[in-house]
Amino acid sequence: MIKNSCNVVVVGGGAAGMMAAIWAARQGADVILFEKNEKLGKKIYITGKGRCNLTNACDIEDLFPNMVSNGNFLYSAFYGFTNDMVMDFFEELGCPVKVERGNRVFPVSDKSSDVIFALSRELKRLGVRIRLESKVDRLIMEEGRAKGVVCKEKEYLADAVIVTTGGLSYPSTGSTGDGYGFASEAGHKIRECRPSLVPFQVDGDACQRLQGLSLRNCQVSVWSGKKKVYEDFGELLFTHFGISGPTIISASAYVGGILKKDPCRIVIDLKPALSKEQLDQRILRDFEKNHNKQFKNVLHELLPKKMIPVIIDRSGIDPEKKVNVITREERQNLVSAIKEFTLTATGLRGYNEAIITQGGIHVKEINPSTMESNLVQGLYFAGEVLDLDAVTGGFNLQIAWSTGYLAGISCVTEKG
Ligand SMILES: Cc1cc2nc3c(=O)[nH]c(=O)nc-3n(C[C@H](O)[C@H](O)[C@H](O)COP(=O)(O)OP(=O)(O)OC[C@H]3O[C@@H](n4cnc5c(N)ncnc54)[C@H](O)[C@@H]3O)c2cc1C
Repeated sequence: MIKNSCNVVVVGGGAAGMMAAIWAARQGADVILFEKNEKLGKKIYITGKGRCNLTNACDIEDLFPNMVSNGNFLYSAFYGFTNDMVMDFFEELGCPVKVERGNRVFPVSDKSSDVIFALSRELKRLGVRIRLESKVDRLIMEEGRAKGVVCKEKEYLADAVIVTTGGLSYPSTGSTGDGYGFASEAGHKIRECRPSLVPFQVDGDACQRLQGLSLRNCQVSVWSGKKKVYEDFGELLFTHFGISGPTIISASAYVGGILKKDPCRIVIDLKPALSKEQLDQRILRDFEKNHNKQFKNVLHELLPKKMIPVIIDRSGIDPEKKVNVITREERQNLVSAIKEFTLTATGLRGYNEAIITQGGIHVKEINPSTMESNLVQGLYFAGEVLDLDAVTGGFNLQIAWSTGYLAGISCVTEKG
């Protein structure tokens, strides 16, 4: 077996891996970066719908409430490489950034490829040896120390190994969970993984009938039995399989565990600005204006066109009925159908559609100040491979940058 050596090996050329390699090299280390794809940063390319929402310009303290799993673990990482530092970092690398609604930060060019170019240029400038189409098969560990990796049957020896192989979401980008295997071999526990920031699968035909309809201002609540487990206000999209859109994607981060065991009820208030009484008055006015018309022809001012037949079905009112004979009770059923539009979610969609993986390497066995394994010296982890995840808004990439930075500087300063 041919042996090569360097100071630091980084496994995975995504956001966390490129950041770790840059910072290790900036400390003077001789770095080899292994990426199994034919190019670096395949997942970064598809982030933010191709625009890359690379961080969030909120107050540093506000990063934490946007973490879903293990936010406290990230204290040193976030303060070590803050969101402001991320913005400065990309500006300095020739990728100017701008702040949009919700403090979301994007490259001024609106091109995620510019983020990848900026990182690749810096890696090259620093002399990092980039090995593409190079899948790392296993880690070399001896006597409680990481000694290197095996790739294409060659051994690469190093003082430190940083594993940044990502999670399981969008496997076509290269994230196929290899790091969990490496970590298990090192003795690490893996918290069960599941797709997150992902649409919901819904029972029945309502969603198919509403497919393509996007609702802007609706109140969405998720119920498990009698318990409300999530609530949000905003956009929702009906698809051929169920529901998606910002409110639903965010909800998935909090209710995925529950949905794995039991279905949940999704209750959508289509008119959140009106109380039930106000909505009833509004309907009464519409009915009075159109008193000789059939019920099916009077809802167009109140509801989107696609929604009308579905709401009519749910109200139980004969669509041919003249509105002047609709009873108070029937009207109340209509109000409920609109204010409590209920769907049964049976599960989450899969990793092919999930923005993030929830679960991963247990952070209790990782030093939060360095990202080094507590079990194997010289072995570091960063990014999505760890049991860390956040809501949308640039927070997940901030996790990757901050933990990548910390692993990169720590593996050199500590190991000399
Ligand atoms: C569609 C989509 C949109 C997103 N949009 C945003 C957004 O706008 N803002 C945001 O903050 N987050 C976003 N995210 C989440 C964000 O992309 C991830 O959190 C982030 O990329 C994680 O970085 P990582 O480096 O840990 O892992 P990854 O980006 O998954 O990188 C891991 C790399 O390791 C490589 N690899 C794996 N195994 C091996 C091996 N054995 N040998 C060699 N290489 C290996 C993979 O090929 C891959 O390149 C989005 C995710 C998706 C899927």
